[in-house]
Amino acid sequence: MLPGISLIVLPLPFALGSINVYLVQLTGGYLLVDCGMDTHQCFEALWLSLADRGTAWDGIRQILLTHVHPDHMGMAPRLLKLTGAKLLLHVQDAEYLAELAQWEHYRTWVGGVLRRSGVSADLIAKIDAGAHEIHKSFQRLKPDVLLTGGEKILSATGELEVLWTPGHSPGHVCLYARERRVLFSGDQMLELISPNIGWHPERDPLSEYLNSLQELARLDIDLVLPAHGDPFSGHREWIQRTMAHHEQRCASILRLLDAAPQTAAALVNQLWDRRLEPFHYRFAVFEVLAHLEYLERQGKVARREADGVECWLPG
Ligand SMILES: [Zn+2]
Ligand SMILES: [Zn+2]
Repeated sequence: MLPGISLIVLPLPFALGSINVYLVQLTGGYLLVDCGMDTHQCFEALWLSLADRGTAWDGIRQILLTHVHPDHMGMAPRLLKLTGAKLLLHVQDAEYLAELAQWEHYRTWVGGVLRRSGVSADLIAKIDAGAHEIHKSFQRLKPDVLLTGGEKILSATGELEVLWTPGHSPGHVCLYARERRVLFSGDQMLELISPNIGWHPERDPLSEYLNSLQELARLDIDLVLPAHGDPFSGHREWIQRTMAHHEQRCASILRLLDAAPQTAAALVNQLWDRRLEPFHYRFAVFEVLAHLEYLERQGKVARREADGVECWLPG
């Protein structure tokens, strides 16, 4: 693709289909951006791809995770052992991972949020059963470098700047090669998908996401290298489209609440016109909650609780 940067596509066992990891030449060895999921297929695809390039495991000197979702960090423990590389991770995603790794505690918390959002016990049980497989990815990691944003990594083809872009996850980062006008966007920008923005307690993830998009719009970028799908150009148009999408979603929610106060689960059932599998349903509820939190902080909606279930109404 670009000199000093290789895109490696790894297969994923769910609808997203694949994840892109990037091998970037440093002055000595390589930086691997994201790791793929902890599956036999992912491992084999990465191993074959490195062998094709004549790169040995210990050629990878640094591993940077854009964030700690399982398709990005699942294989990290295995690769860190094999390579002896240094791990770079944003401090807020290191903390988030520590919470995810306490699985019993985390799943109880997710179940509680879903119940409060009006999801049936039956569906919560299905969501919980599906999540069990994924949780194996969430192993504690001890980063060698806790990122906060602003760090510079010296690569063979110029500096890579760490940009903290919260929203999709609390400590999501992008890498910006300013001289080459290239952005490694992680899950912050994906050409054909609007990245999932899920609710986190005591945060306003949608607002954080929109703010980080606005910051990216100021940068000169010729090519976006995303974690899923093809590299693409036209980041400013993409950002405009995505911001409009979230505005429309907020408008739809306000319209539905004007018609009748209701739970987040009831909103999901009306906002998505297709039946969602339990795995996706959970993300849809958290996404609607992120929009409700955003609207609540602007005084546009309010919540009322009855029998442990939250009902939303116009503010
Ligand atoms: Zn993600
Ligand atoms: Zn992803």
